[in-house]
Amino acid sequence: MIGDGMGLSQIQAGLTANFGSLNLLEFKNIGFSRTHSASDYVTDSGAGATAISTGNKTYNGAIGVNADSVPAKTILEYAEDKGLATGLISTSAITHATPASFIAHNVDRNDYEGIALDFLKTDIDVFIGGGRNNFTARKDHKNLVKELKDKNYMVTFSMDTARSVTSGKLVALTAPEHNPAVIEGRDNMLPLAVNTALKILSKNRKGFFMMVEGSQIDWGAHANNTGFVAMEMIDFDKAIGNALTFAKNYGNTLVIVTADHETGGMAISNGNYGEGKVSALFATKNHTGIMVPVFAYGPGAELFQGFQQNTDLFKKMMSLLKLYPQPDTGIK
Ligand code: MG
Ligand code: ZN
Repeated sequence: MIGDGMGLSQIQAGLTANFGSLNLLEFKNIGFSRTHSASDYVTDSGAGATAISTGNKTYNGAIGVNADSVPAKTILEYAEDKGLATGLISTSAITHATPASFIAHNVDRNDYEGIALDFLKTDIDVFIGGGRNNFTARKDHKNLVKELKDKNYMVTFSMDTARSVTSGKLVALTAPEHNPAVIEGRDNMLPLAVNTALKILSKNRKGFFMMVEGSQIDWGAHANNTGFVAMEMIDFDKAIGNALTFAKNYGNTLVIVTADHETGGMAISNGNYGEGKVSALFATKNHTGIMVPVFAYGPGAELFQGFQQNTDLFKKMMSLLKLYPQPDTGIK
């Protein structure tokens, strides 16, 4: 689970606005991830997610390709090869950098329509997010929704419809571009999407790999808007709570929560838990180079303690899933 732009201050903002409670506080295995990319001390979300999804430090703007622009196989693709169920969930467009880096291979994060094509090259079981226009209103006039239906996906544009699906392959494209922010009325799309995907993916006896992104913590911080950050953080934490409940009920499930980078150089300057009020200052409208937290619960969680590179997250997840990189993938 990736909170885009989620540093400790973003968590603190959510914690305070939520009157002092967050599901995140339950985690006991805590570490740090070092986020620099191959090209920059301060990463973007493409290089940040590609490090986690493929084990490669790459250049800013890259999606699932290594620093030499060679496609690097992702953990989701390795999981598929092994017969595990797979899923991606995002509050942004599903073609945006973070989810894209788990399934697509593109030298440019802005090639959303090219990235959408890569979803058709896989057998991913569930994806839920915005980005409908990248599938249906394309320059090449392809209708990827029709192609998805031909591949036996149930395709819907509504979270209300998606949430009633309990098996099979599901695509929910819940917004033409990005989903609205919580402060613009997104409601509980993300926590609902997590529960929906868990129901479907857990039917696979071999197990599953899923990436869930709280995309817009980052956007609130880019806007230097403390309330925006806090509401996105609380929403992401509800999704984390749903994943933790699943892991506790079913066991044998590892939940990892981290970020791709911090955004805003956010500093908490005041707050009141009783009133749910929090104030913050921001050092920048961009990302920063500070390390980000890693939280883990479940089998193997202790591996994620201490300091690690973002690329180590890939290696640790791969070893726990007993998935092993092939030598020809560019993965070091
Ligand atoms: Mg993102
Ligand atoms: Zn950002």
